[in-house]
Amino acid sequence: MQPTKFQKRLFGTNGVRGIVGKDLTPELVLTIGEALGTMRRGCIAVGRDTRTSGETLVKAVKSGLLATGCDVVDCGILPTPALQYLIKGQFDGGAMITASHNPPEYNGVKIIEADGTEMGDEETLKLEQLIFEPSFSPQSWEYIGHEINAPYLTRKYIQAIVHHFPDRIGSEITVVVDPGSGPACLTTPQILTEMGCRVLTLNGVMDGTFPGRLPEPSPEGLKGLAELVVSSGAAFGVAHDGDADRAVFIDEKGQFVEENREFALVAQHMCHQKKGTVVTPVSTSLVVEMVMKNEGCTITYTPVGSIYVARTMRSLRENGNEVVFGGEGNGGLIFPDHQFCRDGGMTAAMMVFILASTGQQLSTLINALPKRSMIKDKISTSLGTHVLESLKEVYSQDSLDLTDGVKILRRDSWALVRASGTEPIIRIIVDADTHNHGQVFIMN
Ligand code: MG
Repeated sequence: MQPTKFQKRLFGTNGVRGIVGKDLTPELVLTIGEALGTMRRGCIAVGRDTRTSGETLVKAVKSGLLATGCDVVDCGILPTPALQYLIKGQFDGGAMITASHNPPEYNGVKIIEADGTEMGDEETLKLEQLIFEPSFSPQSWEYIGHEINAPYLTRKYIQAIVHHFPDRIGSEITVVVDPGSGPACLTTPQILTEMGCRVLTLNGVMDGTFPGRLPEPSPEGLKGLAELVVSSGAAFGVAHDGDADRAVFIDEKGQFVEENREFALVAQHMCHQKKGTVVTPVSTSLVVEMVMKNEGCTITYTPVGSIYVARTMRSLRENGNEVVFGGEGNGGLIFPDHQFCRDGGMTAAMMVFILASTGQQLSTLINALPKRSMIKDKISTSLGTHVLESLKEVYSQDSLDLTDGVKILRRDSWALVRASGTEPIIRIIVDADTHNHGQVFIMN
């Protein structure tokens, strides 16, 4: 049941990422396209975010796919969840050129399966093998693939979200949207407008140099959004990362909503509507578990990484379990009745629905959640495996969860220590009911 993490050479948790021209070249992306085309065949959808390197890299991946005989539908610039939605059941797979939240000099490739989920570890290892030991050869002239440009398909994604909610449910609500000059410029303002909201935008023109803020929607980068929310009297502000699979919020007072609390608020709403399980990684704050248990739901923990959450949700549902909701404590929320991947546009729309149906202000709803304190830290060491083994011994009297690294569970708090698979560091997260309690945990 529990997904296992595999060590990959090229692909990380969310695809291949690197600095353009250094780690990530058109040649590498061409090879990825050839490998994907060889593995999947058929008709493949491609898309990209707004990065300056996107155009050259999407041409490289398309060239690889066409050369190996695949037909290609180029969906143009769009959020990753929009491409995933379009692929689901309609294409034989997909490739998204994006580096998500990374700075402008980065880019990457995310591979999407025919069911709209990101490619899992086992298939990715097969793809890597093809990339490192290429055994494909270009098709002869009569079998080269065809390409269609279809940027208009994004409309289907917008409509799917709008139709998920009662007609014009947001007609009393003003929202400020900060798509961060990314692909959600084309989707989230449109979705919320069609839900009846009055929408103001900030960083709403697509620009791969990201002149307004970096693609990571950090509290520091969202100061302009917070000011505009307060000065315009908006109900909330919403900001996306560089490919809009995540959404974070600013409340009506201009305060950043910590992402675990955002998750808890949406989980509370989803669990109020329907009973079942909520799926999240072991790194998510206990506030989520507390809120859902109050609503009579259960929680299933997975290793860290949205793909493990999405695939666990899907397999639970396939086995007849009611899966209500899932996601991570970083603004990446998964709505299983919509699709099995993180979706920033859907998250923004759901927030409109929550505020419209409760009639409450966002700060009131957030302040009503149980108070928690979370400390995150990392330590440079090449002895990660040794540290984890020692922790298991030192804390053997405690309750331990070994889903991903070592999680030490206490009554009102937990500590998680994980060794990075790609860097010589260990990551530590402590979650407690007060800040002091968490520090005592670290001192132990
Ligand atoms: Mg992202």
